[in-house]
Amino acid sequence: MVRLESLVELSGWVRFLGGRYPVQHNRVLLPIPAMQPPGVYPAELEIEGVRLRLEVRVVAGRFGRFVLRLPPERQALLVPERLRAERERVVAACDVGRPQMWQGPFRKPVSSERITDPFGTRRSYDQGRTFTYHEGLDYGVPEGTPVYAPAPGVVGLAERLFVRGGAVVLDHGLGVCSGFWHLSRVVVRPGQRVGTGELLGYSGNTGLSNGPHLHFELRVRGIPTDPAPWFLSVP
Ligand SMILES: [Zn+2]
Repeated sequence: MVRLESLVELSGWVRFLGGRYPVQHNRVLLPIPAMQPPGVYPAELEIEGVRLRLEVRVVAGRFGRFVLRLPPERQALLVPERLRAERERVVAACDVGRPQMWQGPFRKPVSSERITDPFGTRRSYDQGRTFTYHEGLDYGVPEGTPVYAPAPGVVGLAERLFVRGGAVVLDHGLGVCSGFWHLSRVVVRPGQRVGTGELLGYSGNTGLSNGPHLHFELRVRGIPTDPAPWFLSVP
């Protein structure tokens, strides 16, 4: 995050890694994709018509790595166009123009602390030829575990998706949206406003899932970021 010290609200943008991010309440949230190689990257700040060059240092995260052995019939379901269309639907459910709705740190979406796969784990579905990364946190909870809103928001999506199964996207404003996948049951509707701790649905094993768990993720302007720091302090 870039914070600007000013008594008045400034307007401007930061260009960073091919994206253009607005200054909102004198600060800018800059998401860094988990596959970004470590290094120093330029960021261009344009504020009230003045341009400044900043540098952002990206350090290596400690991400695990594993190769998934999928049965051929499941691998055949991973059609790139299908995956892309679903991802676009999830990203489009987040309204970047919505004002900030959260105040303090985010609350955990389930009462469990059992994280079976953290954010950023490198995964390969094709015997190690290419790697993607895990876009959220997996909680190893039994089917039917209540899933709660981690912060106030508006339901952007509540439906069954092919890969993500029973899915809810919650829009918290400023381009920050959380996602809850593989749910067995969804109890909210698109457009509904929910408060922190309100019930969204129940965990399950729907979509392309290898056993009951809750996948929880947090995107900033469409880019998945590590949800864990959001439980401690928020920008
Ligand atoms: Zn997951």
